[in-house]
Amino acid sequence: MVDLIIIGGGPAGVAGGVYAARKQLKTVLIAEELGGQSTVSEGIENWVGTPRIPGADLAKSFKEHLESVKGAFVELALGERVTGLTKTDVGFTATTKSGKEFSAKAVLIASGAGRRTLDIPGASTFEHKGLTYCASCDGPLFGGMDVAVVGGGNAGFETAAQLLAYAKSVTLLHRGAAFKADPVTVEKVCAHPNMRALKNAEPTEIRGEQFVTGLTYKDKISGESHTLDVAGIFVEVGVIPNTDFVGTLIDLDPVKRVVVDPRTQRTSVEGIWAAGDCTDELYHQNNIAAGDGVKALEDIYLWVKTRS
Ligand SMILES: Cc1cc2nc3c(=O)[nH]c(=O)nc-3n(C[C@H](O)[C@H](O)[C@H](O)COP(=O)(O)OP(=O)(O)OC[C@H]3O[C@@H](n4cnc5c(N)ncnc54)[C@H](O)[C@@H]3O)c2cc1C
Repeated sequence: MVDLIIIGGGPAGVAGGVYAARKQLKTVLIAEELGGQSTVSEGIENWVGTPRIPGADLAKSFKEHLESVKGAFVELALGERVTGLTKTDVGFTATTKSGKEFSAKAVLIASGAGRRTLDIPGASTFEHKGLTYCASCDGPLFGGMDVAVVGGGNAGFETAAQLLAYAKSVTLLHRGAAFKADPVTVEKVCAHPNMRALKNAEPTEIRGEQFVTGLTYKDKISGESHTLDVAGIFVEVGVIPNTDFVGTLIDLDPVKRVVVDPRTQRTSVEGIWAAGDCTDELYHQNNIAAGDGVKALEDIYLWVKTRS
């Protein structure tokens, strides 16, 4: 039985782990891997204090920071996936896929989020046959080809920027009337001569034979359908919170994000806090996730120390 279980090794969980170590709380940090979602990013340019850092290096620095401060206080249980979280008489127990159990007085859920998938005809048929959710993994396979990106947020534009390094052309489709990505990113990416970005464009079908040959979309203004002749389609249409393991233990919002008090990161159940992209936080960024983790630890520390 330790003081605290932290679930997640992204910026929220790692910030929580660093603060737990410095506050000398007996902690187990359980995570499938350290780094979080932006590990796949080629260059993060808004991690405060660091003008530019590749996602893989950010993950490395998280590990180094944790290793350097953890001492005898923070145990790292990496490569473990939490599949259940239950309340006990004395606290909480987290169960992992490999069958391990960890018990603690308090829990910080920092399990982040994963990718939302495209739900149109052809999407499941052509997944891994031209339709992909990871530009860093699959982008180089489409060298010299015409490709499309679905999604007009930061992830969509960042994906387009990566693809422009190999692809013949990139067409980005966004179904809304205004791009959601930061204006500076939109401007930079759209300045590339091989880049085209369309608003009010609703994807309706993935076309192909053995592999993708096209993407049909509806122009929401004119109502007309068009087909782009593309060999690759990269989807960046949002995220799904990794909260399945909480079941009905704590309150979730309609899209299954953990409802938190933004002043303290407390959830609906005393003894459980949540931080970062798994919460109903309005903005999802590395710095915000880390800040949430810090805020939670300040509150957890007071709670643990005033209880025992
Ligand atoms: C491609 C891309 C680029 C981005 N670029 C930027 C950027 O430039 N700047 C910026 O500020 N933000 C960026 N973001 C957003 C940023 O990455 C997120 O806001 C941030 O990672 C959220 O941190 P988090 O700790 O809440 O969760 P995550 O980063 O999602 O980390 C979740 C952690 O929990 C672990 N986990 C999940 N489920 C379980 C489970 N059941 N059991 C155990 N462990 C589990 C995961 O392995 C991971 O370690 C980007 C996102 C993407 C997808």
